[in-house]
Amino acid sequence: MKQLIQIVVISTAMVFLTSASMPLHKTLPAVQSKQPLKYIYLTFDDGPLNGSENIDSVVLSERLKISVFIVGEHAEKSKQLGNYYKLYEENPFVEAYNHSYTHANDHYKEFYSNPQQVLKDIQKNEQQLNLRYKVVRLPGRNMWRIGGRKKDDGVSGSAAADLLEKNNYKIYGWDLEWQHKQNGEPVQTVDEMLNEIETRQNSGNTFTQNHLVLLLHDEMFQKKWEESELKQLIDKLRQHDNYVFEHLRFYPDK
Ligand SMILES: [Zn+2]
Repeated sequence: MKQLIQIVVISTAMVFLTSASMPLHKTLPAVQSKQPLKYIYLTFDDGPLNGSENIDSVVLSERLKISVFIVGEHAEKSKQLGNYYKLYEENPFVEAYNHSYTHANDHYKEFYSNPQQVLKDIQKNEQQLNLRYKVVRLPGRNMWRIGGRKKDDGVSGSAAADLLEKNNYKIYGWDLEWQHKQNGEPVQTVDEMLNEIETRQNSGNTFTQNHLVLLLHDEMFQKKWEESELKQLIDKLRQHDNYVFEHLRFYPDK
C-alpha cells in the first residue's frame, strides 16, 4: 500500500513537472490553427542570368523553397552562367524546371505555329540540362495543362500545349505576377502584393483553390537582400502560420 502511494505521488509529481516545464500546445501553432493550409509557389523565369548567384545564396540562408524555369541557351551562353545553373542544381531549396531551350528566340507567334518544333525544343532543354521533372512553363505564355484541366491565355500556343500534355508534361502558368520596371524597381508595393495574395487566397480566385503561383523576376534580387522588397513580402507572408512555400512539383494534379 505504501509503495502504491509512493508511485501515485511520484507520477503526480511527474505530470506536474511535465505540464509546468513543457507548455506543449503553446509550442505547436500548426496544431492550433483552424485555417486550411494555403500554398504559395515562388517561381522565377528565364535563368540562369547575371544575379542568379544572389538568388542561390539567399534561398539557402532563408531556407526558402523556390522554383526556377530555366532556358538552356542561357545556361550554355557562358561558363559563368553554366556555373550558376550548377549552383541551382546543388541547392536543395531550388528546383529547376523547363522553360524551353531557345525561349522561342522571342518570336512567339512563329514558334507556336509549329507544335512539333515546340515539343522538340522542350525535349532538347530537358536533355541538355538533365532536368529531373516534366514540369514546363511555356515561353511568353500563361497557359496551364494539369490533371486534365487547362487554361489558355488567348494567344497562340494552345495546340503546342496540348501536344506537350500528351507527352506527359505538366504546364504551369501563374496566378499573379510581381512586375518590375526597367531599373528592377517593383511596380506594386510590398503591401499591394501582400493584399493581393491574401485576397486571392481567401476568395479562391486561383487556378486551383488554396494554391497560388507567383511569378517573380530575378531583378528583385538586385538590392541587398536585407533591403529588398522581396524579403519584406516573404517576412510578411511568413506571419501567416497556415501559409506554406512549396515547389511546383508538389502542386496538386487532380
Ligand atoms: Zn520567359
